[in-house]
Amino acid sequence: MPILGRRLAAITAALAMSVTTGALVSPASAHSGSSDETKKEPTATGYGGAVSTVDVDASAAAIEVLRKGGNAVDAAVAAAATLGVTEPYSAGIGGGGYFVYYDAKSKKVHTIDGRETAPAAMPTDAFVDPNSPTGAPYNFTPELVTSGVSVGVPGTPATWERALHRWGSMSLAETLEPAIEVATDGFEVDETFRQQTEDNQVRFEAFPSTRELFLPGGKLPKVGSVFKNHDLADTYRLLASKGTEAFYEGPLAEDIVEAVQNPPKSADTELPVPAGFMTTKDLAKYRALDQDPTHVNYRGYDVYSMAPSSSGGTTVGEALNILETFDLPALAENDEAAVLHHYLEATALAFADRNKYVGDPAFVDVPVKQLLDPVFGKERACEIDPLHAAEKPVPAGDVADYNGACDIEPAALGDEKDTENINTTNLTVSDKWGNVVEYTLTIEQTGGSGITVPGRGFILNNELTDFNNVYNPTEANRIEPGKRPRSSMSPTIVLKDCEPFLALGSPGGASIITTVLQTLVNRIDLTMKIEDALAAPRASQRNAANVSAEQAFIDSDNGKALASKYGHKFAAAGDPGTSAADIGAATAIEFLDDNKVRAVAEPVRRGGGSAMVVNPSR
Ligand code: GLU
Repeated sequence: MPILGRRLAAITAALAMSVTTGALVSPASAHSGSSDETKKEPTATGYGGAVSTVDVDASAAAIEVLRKGGNAVDAAVAAAATLGVTEPYSAGIGGGGYFVYYDAKSKKVHTIDGRETAPAAMPTDAFVDPNSPTGAPYNFTPELVTSGVSVGVPGTPATWERALHRWGSMSLAETLEPAIEVATDGFEVDETFRQQTEDNQVRFEAFPSTRELFLPGGKLPKVGSVFKNHDLADTYRLLASKGTEAFYEGPLAEDIVEAVQNPPKSADTELPVPAGFMTTKDLAKYRALDQDPTHVNYRGYDVYSMAPSSSGGTTVGEALNILETFDLPALAENDEAAVLHHYLEATALAFADRNKYVGDPAFVDVPVKQLLDPVFGKERACEIDPLHAAEKPVPAGDVADYNGACDIEPAALGDEKDTENINTTNLTVSDKWGNVVEYTLTIEQTGGSGITVPGRGFILNNELTDFNNVYNPTEANRIEPGKRPRSSMSPTIVLKDCEPFLALGSPGGASIITTVLQTLVNRIDLTMKIEDALAAPRASQRNAANVSAEQAFIDSDNGKALASKYGHKFAAAGDPGTSAADIGAATAIEFLDDNKVRAVAEPVRRGGGSAMVVNPSR
């Protein structure tokens, strides 16, 4: 937390609360309540608006804005900007994301696609190493991920501006205030931040601008020390006074382009750091896009999520359509493992289709309607043996020829390698009017491209690594100039009878899709409480031979039954014993009766998240 800024905010808030609740509450005693802005609590229940993020300062920023009378959109931008300070390796103005909004007045869900975009001059062989005798692509790690060539035109500033313009009630300047305060006063370094810096040390040392900012004095930041980012505070001030044009045009845009075309690497680094193709024209041309959400109905709930260029909405939606054909609530009564078996098999099928069909709809014809057609889901469900795990990978279905009956051969095998990296951040916000925001934003992997724009305080994304790295004209997610790489981000809002029931999302690369889906299955089919649904051990089947799973899942009774009875093969996710072994870092808000809401964050993953409400009681 920023040592002075947030403490003062907390005291002010606690005193303000004492007026509204009629009880004198000291800041210390407020800790046990759910509206404390200084302490990380993974759940908070109450009224008047709520927020869940991975970070206490970001959640406090949202609460501050809601208390000032801002709405969920204003608060979401404030939280996102603060995450750019405190989670600079996961998200920030150097990246992109997807913004999903439920408007209480019209009872409609809207979305903004703020995905990074390939520069106009990006050749289709951009990822091929010119020094390779065989014409092979760069190694994914570390060459491709630490490069100018992987930097897409950032979409985050344009997303904030578009969201505020369409639905916000505050100016960009007002929503940036809390983040500027945190960047100026500093925040307290925690173990997650230190560890993420260490994980990136070699890459960060390759760029003097990154080393100076994130390895002060050449050293890792110490847990408990105060971390300030004056350059970012200045950049935010520039956007506050001049608007996001100051990002997409002018000196800042020129600095971004220079960092991409001539990556500011140190003379002694051994990393090749291939240069990129972005120009000031690319930045000036960037637009965040208004999009219709995806929609499916699952057991009476209307599930809305992000349409392509993300594969999140179609893949979560298709898997739900597949699962809808089985009576999972009945199965759940005696056999949780049976429910999870269906979940794992459904995601394998949905991933086969995602890999074959989903890319940027501005460039490829994505069969969104077919992928989300319950009849297609019914036919795909034919592939599931209720008692045995199918051999993976399973083939994709045929969107041109289906009738819901179990008699059609599926099309060819999906043949893609899953090379997405696994970091990002997610936030959920609601307000007293009933508006809801679910927003996932990223700079791709933890630490993005590693390139800090000199003097500007933020790291550029490496999102273009989400394209398939070798150009194949038949693949939906092939590299093309001006195109958005396929994402897995799945910010999701679930309605029941047109009213919000649940909003949720997560980071985690391609496992975002399975995390959102598993949480929905846990909540709806296994009827867990939302905090348990979110905290439960996770497993992610993405049409691979092994189910990637957290160790706690593998060791659970369900995990054992899935292996021994159903034949699922598990591989522990990431590096055991490190945070990479976690799948996701989700946030959610569930909407209860009488305008009560329950905000939920991770109790443990990524150091635990922060849920807050405006008023713990009415
Ligand atoms: N690049 C990923 C995507 O767009 C997000 C990265 C992550 O969540 O780890 O799907």
